[in-house]
Amino acid sequence: MIKISGLIILTGFLVLGCKTGQYTETNKAYKTQAKEFAAVLKKYPLSDSAGLNYANSWVGTTNFTMRRPNFVVIHHTAQNSCDQTLKTFTMTKTQVSAHYVICRDGTVHHMLHDLLRAHQAGVSKWGNATDLNSSSVGIEIDNNGFEPFTDDQINSLIILLGRLKRAYNIPSANFVGHADVAPGRKVDPSRHFPWKKLADNGFGLWYDTAKVQPPADFNALLALRIVGYDIKNEKNAIQSFKIHFTPADSTAGLNEADRKILYDLSKKYQ
Ligand SMILES: [Zn+2]
Repeated sequence: MIKISGLIILTGFLVLGCKTGQYTETNKAYKTQAKEFAAVLKKYPLSDSAGLNYANSWVGTTNFTMRRPNFVVIHHTAQNSCDQTLKTFTMTKTQVSAHYVICRDGTVHHMLHDLLRAHQAGVSKWGNATDLNSSSVGIEIDNNGFEPFTDDQINSLIILLGRLKRAYNIPSANFVGHADVAPGRKVDPSRHFPWKKLADNGFGLWYDTAKVQPPADFNALLALRIVGYDIKNEKNAIQSFKIHFTPADSTAGLNEADRKILYDLSKKYQ
């Protein structure tokens, strides 16, 4: 018995050692990069990260804080395991990253300080906000895009979102999906993602069309824009709207039910 327990402990130790050792080098690279950014912030007199100086007179104010994220962008990884995603986000040649990765068993990996900019959303727009990378926290959920998300994942996600919402005072309407902010270019998180459950918990908004009757002159496209979608390409905007709000409907156009939903949502998102 003792021998067996010893073996189990040893095996556990080796597995743990191997896992932490795997990222020793990239963790060092993270620290070096973070130190370089800290040095930019400490520079006196002021010059910004592009090395620009805007005035000869430097008078430091006493009243300031760090810039904070005001959006959360949710993704699915489109990969087959958390290990695969951690590897992808620690290889410089990929140039992609996220602040958090949530595995199928609910484990959360924190990969980047919330106040730093991850390369997750790419070219993006929500309302009048562009470059969401500069204003959002990016969360990747381990999922290949064709399967349901696990309860453990969604439970971990809801806890994490609650912390982010409280810490940075992020409005409910500003919890969005990658497809929402990059219509036509992205479709994640997929139609399997439980947006209604999230909205019930205060992350994103949801509709109730029970007593809704849009007026005859109601403009559904304009409503899409009010909700936040970039409507430059109407077809793409509708596709992203449907992935998020009517996942069971894979048709291309807006029907009467969609018009009701958009009428209701446009009042909530405005
Ligand atoms: Zn994505």
